[in-house]
Amino acid sequence: MTKETPKQAPATPQAIRGTQDIFGPDAEAFAFVVETFERVRRLYRFRRAEMPVFEKTTVFSRSLGETTDVVSKEMYSFEDRGGESLTLRPEFTAGIARAYLTNGWQQHAPLKLATHGPLFRYERPQKGRYRQFHQIDAEILGAGEPQADVELLVMADQILKELGIADGVTLQLNTLGDASSREAWRAALVDYFRAHKAELSEDSQERLEKNPLRILDSKDPRDKVFTADAPMIDAFLSDEAQDFFGKVTAGLDAAGVAWTRAPTLVRGLDYYRHTAFEFVTDRLGAQGTVLGGGRYDGLIEALGGPHTPAVGWAAGIERLAMLVGDKGEAPLDIVIALESDALLEFAINRLTQLRRAGLSAEMVASGSPKKRFDKAGKMGALQLVSISERDGKAFVNIRGENRDAARTALINGILAP
Ligand code: ATP
Ligand code: MG
Repeated sequence: MTKETPKQAPATPQAIRGTQDIFGPDAEAFAFVVETFERVRRLYRFRRAEMPVFEKTTVFSRSLGETTDVVSKEMYSFEDRGGESLTLRPEFTAGIARAYLTNGWQQHAPLKLATHGPLFRYERPQKGRYRQFHQIDAEILGAGEPQADVELLVMADQILKELGIADGVTLQLNTLGDASSREAWRAALVDYFRAHKAELSEDSQERLEKNPLRILDSKDPRDKVFTADAPMIDAFLSDEAQDFFGKVTAGLDAAGVAWTRAPTLVRGLDYYRHTAFEFVTDRLGAQGTVLGGGRYDGLIEALGGPHTPAVGWAAGIERLAMLVGDKGEAPLDIVIALESDALLEFAINRLTQLRRAGLSAEMVASGSPKKRFDKAGKMGALQLVSISERDGKAFVNIRGENRDAARTALINGILAP
């Protein structure tokens, strides 16, 4: 086979590694996650916002921390035709913080925001881990009170419950303390891990001086043996930080949201302070974190803005959808079998009216007229309607169960010839 063979069809392009085309039950579960999120965020009065999928690279490098995995290894960065370095967003928060500053959204503070959409990370693709994935995301900007943390966590809990996946998912909660607590903890971690430096993974040896908290978040078994005995934040918490955390847990208890303390929980990004949390399951193998977030009081300052306390979370839609499983499609209310082509316009009119009345409806109007009734009968609709011609007029026959009298009257009224 030579390259020059003139009539050879070009090879079909393949999808990019780590991306997915989602269809069928998976797509239904995906939509169910987004719809549930949209419904619940309205109950909590979170406002929708849409941000661009790409930003200047500095938006992410400055806010996430240069030494984090996301910035150092996972970003899709490129130069555009104008020579500017841009990055496909690997997470929502930095772009939201940028938008908050550039649009003067401070005037709305405290601002409760919700969004969802695609994110991009150059990771090793596996089940539950993709290079393009999707998140639902909720943030409260300009709120320094622990009640904001509580509200976000209670909303997350309600979303998981309404998705029907709360069983087996636990809320793991930690505090990273305020700046001084965190600094003292950091110094203790450096001392502790330095004694084991040679046995740590290469990545963690590098993290040791720059970013020792990161070692606690490592998935490498060589690091994990040391995390259990590492110094805990509790010994370094200031009274203020302890009080803040106490108010968060008291609020969760008041709302009836179960949580467990996870003293080694740190988050993958550097901007967190005080509350940090993850909703975790053991039903998704290694990709067990479905939702994660925390307080990021220092982030907006890092982007050159005024001191602005804020807290938020994000959850992977694909991972949530995997837990949701097969929801099946919503039942079809009515199928029309059109048995006479002369009545096509009549049938189109009635089909449209049914749908405008809020009923799901399909029509079978192609193929052999004799077979249409059988074909329609196999579609599993609650009601099967045949439209045929008798004495030159439309004859409508309705079969199948109906749910209630008002509905029956509505359908009969619409379908009357
Ligand atoms: P992990 O520890 O699994 O890498 P992370 O800490 O990097 O997660 P976050 O940045 O906190 O994840 O993102 C929040 C959520 O987004 C995760 O809990 C997960 O549900 C989802 N998520 C993150 N990265 C991916 C990915 N590559 N593919 C699919 N979902 C992802
Ligand atoms: Mg990650």
